[in-house]
Amino acid sequence: KESNLISLLKSVVTKVEITAKNKNQHMNCIFDESQKIMAVIDRDGIEQVLLNVLSNAIKYTQEGGRIDIDALRKDRWAQIIVTDNGIGIPEKELSRVFERFFRVDKARSRAMGGTGLGLAISKQIVEEHKGTIEIESKEGRGAKVTVTLPLSHARGIKDIV
Ligand code: ATP
Ligand code: MG
Repeated sequence: KESNLISLLKSVVTKVEITAKNKNQHMNCIFDESQKIMAVIDRDGIEQVLLNVLSNAIKYTQEGGRIDIDALRKDRWAQIIVTDNGIGIPEKELSRVFERFFRVDKARSRAMGGTGLGLAISKQIVEEHKGTIEIESKEGRGAKVTVTLPLSHARGIKDIV
């Protein structure tokens, strides 16, 4: 079924807003809220992906930090881009964050809660949609996560389930 990714993204932002507010973080929605980006998605699955990516941005960004959220069309793809100015990920660990149970700095992450499954599950869900999830980061300089999904007129989940 077709869903508007913009309204889904807005609803997920609303869900996590309070957590960011409690950390005095500013969530900056860059996307045009009146726009529609239609894609054939498993709504619950993509909601879970967006919840994890946004929760990570909040969790791994210090008090007073900033999180930019954008959504756009690019050719036959929809992209959702979440950028934070948090603690970032060391270059040598970057390739491992999609592994199940992998967490950078085990002791510190344990204190923050979580299991290290969020990105592994997110990657699986996004790939079931024939999409991609990528993360760019520099330690101490924040992280940028890009979720890319095919638009309705491209191949959607309909073709693969
Ligand atoms: P869970 O999502 O299961 O609650 P988690 O958030 O630790 O736990 P993932 O979402 O899979 O697990 O992320 C894996 C690891 O990647 C995290 O433990 C953290 O070290 C790192 N990470 C993920 N997102 C960010 C981010 N935005 N900034 C810095 N590090 C991040
Ligand atoms: Mg997580």
